[in-house]
Amino acid sequence: MKTIFEKIRDGEIPADVIHRDEHCFVFRDISPQAPVHVLIVPNKVIPRIGEAETGDQAILGHLLLTAAKIAADLGLAESGFRVVINNGTHGGETVPHLHVHLLGGRQLTWPPG
Ligand code: AMP
Repeated sequence: MKTIFEKIRDGEIPADVIHRDEHCFVFRDISPQAPVHVLIVPNKVIPRIGEAETGDQAILGHLLLTAAKIAADLGLAESGFRVVINNGTHGGETVPHLHVHLLGGRQLTWPPG
């Protein structure tokens, strides 16, 4: 069965997709936790970072470089931003399809809840 993010990837459910390339797609989170909150998702289904393999290295690097590029495109380069990957129950993961959260547009606090 497809994950919700595969359905977004395949255009089967709507999302505000702002970027697509050969390795990933990027869309606005449906429940934004900051003025900018987008998800960078690999086209390939890797369930979570803890299950990524050596062969996924290029994809993983691409996700982070894309996060930085999108942050700049959205005007966050100077003010700053955060990238987050939640893994498993204690990590707060709710969708089993690897995704990088990009958050910005307000002062974020640390430590996270
Ligand atoms: P995580 O909790 O790290 O697994 O993140 C999953 C994220 O996906 C949450 O921030 C949700 O708000 C977001 N999300 C779930 N369904 C959708 C959707 N249909 N469109 C956009 N974002 C979604």
